[in-house]
Amino acid sequence: MAELASEFGMVADHVGMVYRRGNQETQALVDCSLTVPRGTWTSLIGASGCGKSTLLRIFADIVKPTHGAASLHGVSPAEARANRIFSMVSQQSTMLPWRKIMENVELGLEVAGVDKAARRKAAQEAIDLVGLRGFEKAYPSELSGGMRQRAAIARALTLKPQFLLMDEPFGALDELTREKLNFELLRILKETGATLLLVTHSISEAIILSDQVAVMTPRPGRISRLVDIGFGHARSAAMRDDPRFAAYETELRHSLYGTPVASPAEANQTYA
Ligand code: ADP
Ligand code: MG
Repeated sequence: MAELASEFGMVADHVGMVYRRGNQETQALVDCSLTVPRGTWTSLIGASGCGKSTLLRIFADIVKPTHGAASLHGVSPAEARANRIFSMVSQQSTMLPWRKIMENVELGLEVAGVDKAARRKAAQEAIDLVGLRGFEKAYPSELSGGMRQRAAIARALTLKPQFLLMDEPFGALDELTREKLNFELLRILKETGATLLLVTHSISEAIILSDQVAVMTPRPGRISRLVDIGFGHARSAAMRDDPRFAAYETELRHSLYGTPVASPAEANQTYA
């Protein structure tokens, strides 16, 4: 079954990761197995330092696992990168300050050697998809943080990736902008059919954007729990008011912190 899934989605098969710096070793991940079926959305959630970014970077071929293996659509991360079947977006998305938004969005295709007319067309489509039409000629410094993240997502989408790897893409944004972009991304995922692996430490973001949430615990980093989010893909902003949303929040909070019901004061703080 694992083999069948590996052809169609993202698979981590008993992945372990030990970082070595001089004679110091950090066990970042231990025995992590995860399947993200093609066309579905998974979030990795957990405290800082539990290895979320490491697992994502393994899929993105930025680091190689020291144990086990990862695959995307049945091939290694290195091959997936060569075939350009994934794109990555992170919190500190780098926009070149001297380039206009259009030119920044075109960058990925430019590096890939795509000719100017084709790359302009694809970039315009991506800019439209993220709602930045009208800002093509603006410089990054003229945009808000939320708009810059939209531009970073647009750039990732120009390659028409089958897999989107996102590492706290909205982590630097205020709560309202973040939630707005969560629902924008939801729409984009539905339109593109991309498979998503998202790192976040926001419980609500994980619920909004996932079919499955993998809860990670630190020292050493491992996947301690998988929670299915049964909203299907027809979900919309109304899901926030669905009683199941609050139930998932409670379940995930308990999985993360291992505590029973928080006092009302603490609960308010959590959601502030
Ligand atoms: P998270 O994204 O969940 O905050 P990371 O994957 O960034 O966690 O880090 C997991 C652990 O691995 C942490 O203890 C971190 O200090 C360590 N680590 C991450 N990157 C490196 C690296 N390049 N070299 C050495 N240790 C690292
Ligand atoms: Mg991280």
